[in-house]
Amino acid sequence: LVLTSLEVREESHCVRLGSLTSKRKHFTINDFEIGRPLGRGKFGRVYLARLKENHFIVALKVLFKSEIGKEGLEHQLRREVEIQSHLQHPNILRLYNYFYDDSRVYLILEYAPRGELYKELQRNQKLNQQRTATIIEELSDALIYCHRNKVIHRDLKPENLLLGLKGEVKIADFGWSVHTPSLRRKTMCGTLDYLPPEMIEGKSYNETVDLWCIGVLCYELLVGKPPFESSTSSETCRRICQVDFRFPSSMPAGAQDLISKLLRHHPSERLSLAQVLKHPWVRKHSQR
Ligand code: AMP
Repeated sequence: LVLTSLEVREESHCVRLGSLTSKRKHFTINDFEIGRPLGRGKFGRVYLARLKENHFIVALKVLFKSEIGKEGLEHQLRREVEIQSHLQHPNILRLYNYFYDDSRVYLILEYAPRGELYKELQRNQKLNQQRTATIIEELSDALIYCHRNKVIHRDLKPENLLLGLKGEVKIADFGWSVHTPSLRRKTMCGTLDYLPPEMIEGKSYNETVDLWCIGVLCYELLVGKPPFESSTSSETCRRICQVDFRFPSSMPAGAQDLISKLLRHHPSERLSLAQVLKHPWVRKHSQR
């Protein structure tokens, strides 16, 4: 039997996952050795941790029930766990399992060794065409998988994208994601710079909101700031709704073409994810 190195790695990954994804096993904090803090978010802290059983490395996110309850976010957390634990894709951060005690909820997450895309962007100010096109291809592939499973992320932005060992993107934070609404829903959420016009205007929306976000992200990665950035939020909203943005002269023509075909006011005019994957600029520069 000849296994390629990739298969060997995947094989040992599965073996080492062990009981981690078992629905029947109930974990406690004593199953883990806790390492250094990886970061802190609005509701909790994230630690590097190792399963005592087999030394499998994970990121353990610790959330305080009191804080979640105070903000009425139990429902949202439940949805995040439900959605993310069922998604398995190389560019989506795995949520292996969860457990809780009297005061805390613990999420057992895949560890993303290279941290946040946001930090990489801050360090470099902007990213080159190769890096950007690779990220856009990885994201499009992950979103095709999400949409096929009737999940819309709705909140893609550099802060929600983590990086794997080889720098590959991992979509994290499904806090705002939804299963495609069967009833037309009109909810305001997300961060202003990445909000599509239909969400600002309170109209119904569908999975094409994620296409708008890919367009905004592609622009921000290449330029260093998002296309509709303004000093006030009302001005940002106005510019988004009028699709009022300009390309700096340094922006390559191929990227301009892709971004202009994603940042369309009318959702059905936006390029599809399959078309993004086939776009000549992505094909020319992506190193995925
Ligand atoms: P969050 O509460 O999800 O915003 O996480 C807070 C910070 O912890 C993030 O901004 C990351 O820098 C870090 N972090 C969260 N999850 C992971 C992970 N799975 N792997 C590595 N770092 C993480």
